[in-house]
Amino acid sequence: MGLQGNPAVFDTDALLRPGVRAFLGERHRLLIDGVFVDAASGATFESFDPATGRKIADVAHAGAEDVDRAVRAAARALEGSWARLLPAEREAVLRRFAALVEGHADDLAQIEALDSGKPASQIKAVDIALGVGALSYNAGWVTKIEGRTLPVSVPDMHVYTRREPVGVVAAIVPWNFPLCQACFKLAPALAAGCTVVLKPAEQTPLSALYLGRLALEAGLPPGVLNVLPGFGATTGQALISHPGVAKIAFTGSERTGKHIARSAADSLKHVSLELGGKNPNVIFADADVEAAAAVAAIAIFFYSGQVCAAGSRLMVERPIYDRVVETVIAEAGKLKLGHGLSGDTFMGPLVSAQQLQRVSGFVSRAAESGVRVAQAGTAPQGALAGGFFHAPTVLVDADDTAEVTREEIFGPVLVVQPFDTLGELKARANATSFGLSAGVWTRDVKKAHATAAALQAGTVWINTYGQFDATAPWGGFKQSGYGRDNGAESLEKYLQTKTVWTALA
Ligand code: ADP
Repeated sequence: MGLQGNPAVFDTDALLRPGVRAFLGERHRLLIDGVFVDAASGATFESFDPATGRKIADVAHAGAEDVDRAVRAAARALEGSWARLLPAEREAVLRRFAALVEGHADDLAQIEALDSGKPASQIKAVDIALGVGALSYNAGWVTKIEGRTLPVSVPDMHVYTRREPVGVVAAIVPWNFPLCQACFKLAPALAAGCTVVLKPAEQTPLSALYLGRLALEAGLPPGVLNVLPGFGATTGQALISHPGVAKIAFTGSERTGKHIARSAADSLKHVSLELGGKNPNVIFADADVEAAAAVAAIAIFFYSGQVCAAGSRLMVERPIYDRVVETVIAEAGKLKLGHGLSGDTFMGPLVSAQQLQRVSGFVSRAAESGVRVAQAGTAPQGALAGGFFHAPTVLVDADDTAEVTREEIFGPVLVVQPFDTLGELKARANATSFGLSAGVWTRDVKKAHATAAALQAGTVWINTYGQFDATAPWGGFKQSGYGRDNGAESLEKYLQTKTVWTALA
């Protein structure tokens, strides 16, 4: 780290906590069976700071041989050390794990900010808080997983069910919420008695490795949590094809999700998928318009729009349309773009040059097709000129057939459209293959709940946006996936039922 002889480049080194500086200086190796090891092939890949474009680490790249070793270790722990712990002991380990993640929140936030570009303060307040919440919530479930006694109509039989872990879980997570998504998957998996092989995204491998270190410190026996950084086509593909994996818990793109579901069908692996979204955020004319418009800006520009729940399609009742467009553009103009380690940054860069190119492509094609583009603010220059920044952008009056209205852009780009009637709104908002989330803003309680019921989405927020909690199921309708993160429903997906019959006579 450091200026590396180029004083024009943003100096991250001065802002780093000592623990983070030490961590970055270490070798970043795979966690297999309780030990950090190099990849069998010796291969590594580079991880970059997207705010400067500079390399921050070389990371071991897990190949098929490493995947095999990790899955075998997880299978041994499943039957052995993890199964042998009493429920109260497993709960205690998970509670220690949660406490350690919370205790290292500042280091984790900086590591993830460097790797992903997101603001460290937001990572601490949102990602880490949600990750710790998932670990604590699921720790509480360990002692409450119960079977049932069944009133069968067969004489002289005692019949009961046991809830058993599904087996080794492959948790495959994306780059936009690396630590939080990892916790959303491994917390219920571990609570259910499963063991886990975690594959972070190739763009953001570092916080998962730090998490692995904390898991060992918390007392998770070797093999219970394995961490394998690497690419989708290599590490990910080897993991989803491995016969020892019983369940794949995935968050990521629709394309990869469908590929996983297809390949899992051959060996009937359990699959849960949280995929993309093009989420309508609906403001009726009777809403608190200023509050709704201000939140609408945050709903899309938070994390530079790299959020599957982003309120990326703002639908506004016509009488207040111009006022909302004006307010959203003004709010967007106030957002400070900068390095994720700077305390005053609201919006960091996009995660990679490739993502910047993709998002810019959507905007320029929209402009060429006649959509009005309102750019609010500019990407930072000077010391951050090498970063992958995209200014907050509002696309006004795109029609329903436009690419930017239909597709998930995954960047700080908001499409705003007017509507006239509730019936029209429902039809248009639902005419999408996605169904992840939606927002509804109105002071009319009947209209609020009628609209919430009518929208095809896994989560609807009324007079708020983007709320999450460990108890609240999160996942999609339609092409946004199946299965849920969070809540008791997510735990269910890591359990299977065994029915036991006993003859009493
Ligand atoms: P994005 O396009 O946003 O990077 P992906 O769905 O490709 O989203 O990535 C999400 C996660 O899925 C990442 O950890 C990535 O490495 C992984 N992945 C990508 N392709 C595959 C695959 N064929 N098999 C398993 N995992 C994959």
